[in-house]
Amino acid sequence: MKPGDQDLLIVVDLQYDFLPGGALAVPHGDAVIAPINRLARAFRHVVLTQDWHPAGHASFASSHPGKQPFDLVDLHYGSQVLWPDHCVQGTKGAEISGELNIPHAQLVIRKGYNEGIDSYSGFKEADRQTSTGLEGYLRERGFQRVFCAGLALDFCVAWTAMDAASAGFETYLIEDASRAIDTNGSLEKARQDLEAAGVRTINSAQIINP
Ligand SMILES: [Zn+2]
Repeated sequence: MKPGDQDLLIVVDLQYDFLPGGALAVPHGDAVIAPINRLARAFRHVVLTQDWHPAGHASFASSHPGKQPFDLVDLHYGSQVLWPDHCVQGTKGAEISGELNIPHAQLVIRKGYNEGIDSYSGFKEADRQTSTGLEGYLRERGFQRVFCAGLALDFCVAWTAMDAASAGFETYLIEDASRAIDTNGSLEKARQDLEAAGVRTINSAQIINP
């Protein structure tokens, strides 16, 4: 499946806070950097997402007295996993890793900047109403197929891929170029949800060595 002009790679949240030593480190998150750098060379079109929260964001456990990271709370739009403070706007942890080597990336889409709403997806915030504008961008650019990779597979990569599929794009999740957090069965649930959404799971070798 050699990427062509209507194919887009979305690299999700390759930020210091999700990498080893970061505030919300994904286990072995740094293992995705080399495969993503290789993959990105095969794509003419690449978009990066960047988790980008104001201090005091509703997804932070520290914003909910008595709660701990990974607890669940009910917010106005539904159930929300609470996280350690991470990817606060303007901090080092929110920066995209300098080891990512994709100088030809065309767009960085920031998400999670509304104080009261989380946004795992690069397309739609967790209230499932508020759009980031990415769907319109993809349509206007004429993309047909979307390939997703990055961190974390069971949250931001999965939700981005599912929203791409539900927007009508032929969508692939590149598994060996993604890593999961896997809290409370989240990885198994994500796999089921991805399959139900019609997202196809592939490995980077199918793109790089077809
Ligand atoms: Zn976040």
